[in-house]
Amino acid sequence: MSVLVTNIGELVTNDPALGEGPLGILTDAALVAEEGRVAWVGPSTRAPAADYGLDVAGAAVIPGFVDSHTHLVFAGDRVDEFEARMRGVPYTGGGIVTTVAATRTADDATLRANLARLVIEARRQGTTTIEIKSGYGLTVADEERSLRLAREATPETTFLGAHVVPPEYAGRTEEYVALVTGPMLAAAAPHARWVDVFCERGAFDVDAARTVLRAGLAAGLTPRVHANQLGPGPGVALAVEVGAASADHCTHLSGQDIDALAGSDTVATLLPGAEFSTRSPYPDARRLLDAGVTVALASDANPGSSYTTSMPFCIALAVREMRMTPGEALWAATAGGAAALRRDDVGRLTPGARADLAVLDAPSYRHLAYRPGVPLIRTVLIGGEPL
Ligand SMILES: [Zn+2]
Repeated sequence: MSVLVTNIGELVTNDPALGEGPLGILTDAALVAEEGRVAWVGPSTRAPAADYGLDVAGAAVIPGFVDSHTHLVFAGDRVDEFEARMRGVPYTGGGIVTTVAATRTADDATLRANLARLVIEARRQGTTTIEIKSGYGLTVADEERSLRLAREATPETTFLGAHVVPPEYAGRTEEYVALVTGPMLAAAAPHARWVDVFCERGAFDVDAARTVLRAGLAAGLTPRVHANQLGPGPGVALAVEVGAASADHCTHLSGQDIDALAGSDTVATLLPGAEFSTRSPYPDARRLLDAGVTVALASDANPGSSYTTSMPFCIALAVREMRMTPGEALWAATAGGAAALRRDDVGRLTPGARADLAVLDAPSYRHLAYRPGVPLIRTVLIGGEPL
C-alpha cells in the first residue's frame, strides 16, 4: 500500500542534502510512503501516483518526535508532591519510593492500561518513537514485568533497576547493587535494549553506577545515564567513559563535561519538563550546542518530576527557557532523539526511513514554539498508517 501526502507547505526532512538548511526543508512538497517507509520526497508538481492521497492543504509536515527518555510503567500519581513543591518544598528525588510502592501493589492489567493510555497520549501529540524505562519495581519480579509490559509498547526499553535504593535495602547499597547486576539483570535483559542508572547524590555513586553499567554491557545492553541533574557530579564523565548512547539531564555541567561530550558519541539529552515541573534552573543548551555536542530533547515523562508526554511543550520550553532556536529544538526532538537511541531509520523523512510523521495545524514547524500549549498536531502517521 502507498500513500501520497501532498500540498505540504513546509516539509522538514532533517536531511540537508534534500532541502534548505540543517532541517532540509522543502516547500510546496509531497511525500510518498510505501510499505511503511518513505519512498519519495520532492516538489508537489512532480509527485508520483499512489494508492491513497492525503492533501494537507499547505500545512507543515515534520518527522514524528523521537522521545528518547520516559518512565511510563507505574501506578498512581504524585499530584500532592507537585502541589507541595509549588508551595516551596524542594525536589530531592525522594518521592520515587512513593511510586515504587504503588507500582508493586498494582496488577499487570492496571500497569498495562496506564501505560497504554500514556503511549496513546504521546502519539496524539506527535511522538512516533518512544523509549520506556523500568525503575518503579526494584525487585527481580517487578523489574522483569515492567520491562515485559514496556516491550509490548516499544522496542526501546531500558532496564533502570538502579533508579534508587528501595527502602528494604536502606543502608545496604552494595547488596542492592549485587541484586541489580545479578538476578535482576538476568531477568530484565531479555526484555531490554538499554541499561540506565541514576548517578546522583542520594541515588548511586560513580563506582556503583559503573558496576551497574558494566554488568549491563556484559549482558548485551547499551548504557545510558541519568547524569548531573540535581548538582555537579561524575555522571557525564562516566557516560562518556563507558560509551553510553546518551547522558540525560546534563543540568549542572563543568567545562570538562562539555569537552568530554563534544569529543564523544554520547548525546546530551535535555529534559526541560523536569526543570519546569521542579522549578529548577534549566540546562545551558547554548553552551552544549556551541561546543558541537549532539543535543536531544525528551519528555522524561514520569509521575514525579515531569508528568508530561508532550514533545511540543518541551520544544516550547527549550526555545523560551534554554535559548535554542525553533530549528535546533525541532531537530533535537526528532533527529537528536534518534541519535540518542542510535537509530537512523527514524527522526528524518528521507527515502528509506520509516514513514513516521506529523501534520501540523500550522504553516511552519516554528509554530510549535510560537504557539505554546496549543494542540497543533493534526494528523500522525506511524509506518505510513494514520493513528
Ligand atoms: Zn528520567
